[in-house]
Amino acid sequence: MAVSFKQVTKRFADGTVALDHLDLDFELGEFVVLLGPSGSGKTTACRLLAGLEQPSSGRIEIDGKDVTNVPPRFRGIGMVFQNYALYSHKSVFENIAYPLRIRKVPAADIERSVRDVADLLRIGDYLKRKPAQLSGGQAQRVAVARALVWEPAICLMDEPLSNLDALLRLHMRTELNRLHRKLDKTFVFVTHDQEEAMTLATRIAVLKDGRLVQFDEPKTIYRKPANRFVAEFMGRPAMNTIDGMVEGGVFRAGAVACPVDRSDGPVTLGIRPEQIELAAASTPGAMTLTVDVKEAVEPDTLLIFQNSGGNAITLRTQANCDAIEAGQPVSLAFPKSALHYFDARTGQRVE
Ligand code: ATP
Repeated sequence: MAVSFKQVTKRFADGTVALDHLDLDFELGEFVVLLGPSGSGKTTACRLLAGLEQPSSGRIEIDGKDVTNVPPRFRGIGMVFQNYALYSHKSVFENIAYPLRIRKVPAADIERSVRDVADLLRIGDYLKRKPAQLSGGQAQRVAVARALVWEPAICLMDEPLSNLDALLRLHMRTELNRLHRKLDKTFVFVTHDQEEAMTLATRIAVLKDGRLVQFDEPKTIYRKPANRFVAEFMGRPAMNTIDGMVEGGVFRAGAVACPVDRSDGPVTLGIRPEQIELAAASTPGAMTLTVDVKEAVEPDTLLIFQNSGGNAITLRTQANCDAIEAGQPVSLAFPKSALHYFDARTGQRVE
C-alpha cells in the first residue's frame, strides 16, 4: 500500500506549525521509521496518516486515493501507541478480538485469527489473562496483536517500545523485525531513538522542526548524511563536526590539521569517532592532540580530546588503550576516505 504525504502542513489552533509542507512517499511492505528530536512532528505525521487529525493544507494519499477526508476506520490502518491502551476488564483474547468483533467477523474466524496472531507474537499462553496480569513486554505484544489481527494494510506504531526496559526493548526490536519480514505489511514506526531506527527501518525519514531533512536507507543516512543536523543526530557518540579553514589542501582548526581534497575556504569537517585512527607520530598527515577524558565502554574505549579550536573531538576504538591516560598527547589520523564536508554557513553536505 503506497502512502504519500503531499505538501502536508499542520498548523494547530495556537499557531504552532507541527508539519511544514511535508512531502513523503513510501511503498508497500516498507518499514518506515519517522525519526527526529522531541517536537519535530513525528506524532503529528502519524496522527494525520491515521486520520486522527486533519492537515491544515496538502493531502494524504493511500494507494493513489486521496484519504485526507476519510475517517480513521476506513483507512485500513492498525495502530499501536506508547501506552498500549488495552481494555483492563477484558481478557487478552477479547482485547485482541475487539477489532474483529466490531467488524462483525464470525466467531469461528475470530477464534482462528486471534490464535494465529497470538502464536505469531508468542502470547498464545496468556489469552485468558487480564492486562494487569501481564509484564510490560507481554502487554506490548497484545497491543501489537490487536493492531494486526484484522490484517490492516498499514501498521502504525508511535513509540511502542519506550515504556519497556532496555533489554526488553532490544528483544521486541528483534521481534518486530521478524514480524515485518513475515507479514507483507507496511509498517510506520515513530521513535526518537536513532539506534532503533537504524535496526528496524527499510528507510528512515528524519524530521526537524516539522520538515523532512532526509529520507533514505539507514546505511545512506549514516554514511552520507544530508546535512550537519543528520550527521550529528545519527550515531553514538555523534559525528565530530569541526568548523575550520582549508588552505593549500590542509584543513586546520586549532590543533587539528589534516590533508583534504578541497579548495581553499571555510568548511565544516565531519568524521565519525570510530573512523579516527590512532597513528604513529611519524605517519604523514598525523596530528597530535591531548586526551581530556578516557571512558571505557567495553569492548570499546572513548578518547575525548579538547581541541584548541574549541571543539571536543571524540575517538572510539577497540584497540587496547590501557597505556593511554588523560593529559597525554596522542597521535591521530583522519583518513581522507572517512571525511564528510558541510557548508560552513548552511550546514548542507558538500561533496
Ligand atoms: P515527541 O518525540 O516529543 O513526541 P514529536 O516529534 O512526536 O515529539 P509532535 O508531537 O508531532 O512532535 O509535535 C510537533 C509540534 O507540535 C510540537 O511543537 C508540539 O508542541 C506541537 N503540538 C502537538 N500537538 C499540539 C496541539 N494539539 N496544539 C498545539 N501544538 C501542538
